[in-house]
Amino acid sequence: MDVRKMWIGGRWVEGSAGEVFPTFNPATGETIAHVAQASLEDVDRAVEAARRAFEGRWSQRPQARARALWKLAELMRAHFDELVALEVQNNGKAVTGVQGEVNQAIEDFEYFAGAADKIFGRTTPAAPYLLHYTLREPVGVCAQIVPWNYPLMMAAWKLAPALAAGCTVVLKPASATPLTALRLGELIQEAGIPDGVVNIVTGPGATVGAYLAAHPGVDKVAFTGETATGREIMKLAADGIKRISLELGGKSPNIVFADADLEAAVAGSLWAIFTSGGESCEARSRILVERPLYDDFLAAFAEKAARLKVGDPTDPATHIGALISAAHWQRVDGYVWRGVEEGARLVTGGGRPEDPALARGHFYRPTVLADVRPEMTVAQEEIFGPVVAVMPFDDEAEAIAVANGTRYGLAATLWTRDAARAHRVAAALRAGVVTVNHPFTAFPGQAFGGYKQSGFGRELGLEALELYTEVKSVTVLTSGRPVQPWRV
Ligand code: NAD
Repeated sequence: MDVRKMWIGGRWVEGSAGEVFPTFNPATGETIAHVAQASLEDVDRAVEAARRAFEGRWSQRPQARARALWKLAELMRAHFDELVALEVQNNGKAVTGVQGEVNQAIEDFEYFAGAADKIFGRTTPAAPYLLHYTLREPVGVCAQIVPWNYPLMMAAWKLAPALAAGCTVVLKPASATPLTALRLGELIQEAGIPDGVVNIVTGPGATVGAYLAAHPGVDKVAFTGETATGREIMKLAADGIKRISLELGGKSPNIVFADADLEAAVAGSLWAIFTSGGESCEARSRILVERPLYDDFLAAFAEKAARLKVGDPTDPATHIGALISAAHWQRVDGYVWRGVEEGARLVTGGGRPEDPALARGHFYRPTVLADVRPEMTVAQEEIFGPVVAVMPFDDEAEAIAVANGTRYGLAATLWTRDAARAHRVAAALRAGVVTVNHPFTAFPGQAFGGYKQSGFGRELGLEALELYTEVKSVTVLTSGRPVQPWRV
């Protein structure tokens, strides 16, 4: 089996220590490739290459960056089917969802291609003899560490604004899913993005990721992953006072008021938790239903959940593919039975689908736990699988209190026909993204990110450019006469 190499300083290289690690197809358990494992010296080389590239023309040429990003998006479109197939093979998720993700990754590059030459400073009012203005300058060398749940899309969320702003990058994909990021590296090369502007290193988070996050040559760390890892990253970045942005976990609420359109709420809520097999930071994993609608909603929702097709992720009829790994399967399953022990009612799901053809993959049935109380583990902790906690509420104030009653604050959805209530509740929710009467959260151009322990910093929107720029204030004396502040 050949070794997938890393992209460092414009060269495809093996790990300097000669180490490799396997990567798997979660739907079959097969090893699909061996991947070069970065040594710490390789990380040093990648950071040095990024520094050299930052000091070159890249950071000074916004129009050239725009053209390069647009070209990259075109190449991704030309290789769309191939990128989708590779992502499905390495991540195990259903192909229809992955098509949407790859499409969005392309749109992210298009969106930020358009933004590269629209990064404005401003002039500020000053005395007549002074000109005040600000420049927005790229932060420098960025370490970007991304998770396995949307491998290519998360890489795009990070790379597109950083490159548009004129930064250079060392990207570390998750060890479980490095393949599409490495393929993207080939397209980055083909797009003519200068050597060293993007470097891709592969290897474990605990060694390669941690070393990168603390590296003295790195100016900024952008991280997406678990809240616990985010906490580590903050500590690692602290010594160097690095800029950081964190996109972390979630336990997002989905509130169904009694006046909601029941059919739309059931259909939307189903997608909001089970898309991506629930391996989604913004998964609406808690459904709060106003009591008069509770039984009807639960019956319709559970009936549809049980009908979702779990299986071969390459089949366009599949709704839910495989979980990422056996260890993650165990974790998800453990949460389900803990929920039952704590008093939740298992309405449907729990465990593997019966089909023997699926025995070797990490498949999990869509699972509905009902009568959950807000303090239960399954209502507080991120499960990151196809498991939803359903609970009743009695009035709007209770719904808001329960919705806000976790340490997370990433996304929230509400279903109601009352326009005033929609805006009132949207304002009261402590979440970075709120949707009303639809479940879709992430659009290029629309800021995405968390409150509380779901992180800080915003991606996808123009706000993301702020994460990759420093503001420099410039003051110029325009009077033509020298100032003599001391008069001595
Ligand atoms: P993870 O935290 O285990 O790993 C994420 C990345 O960090 C990987 O590349 C990993 O190798 C690396 N890493 C791990 N330990 C590290 C360390 N000590 N130092 C530096 N790097 C380290 O997360 P995951 O399991 O890959 O992803 C799932 C998590 O990501 C979930 O919690 C999910 O909610 C979150 N997520 C959040 C968003 C968002 O936008 N808020 C989006 C997607 C995923």
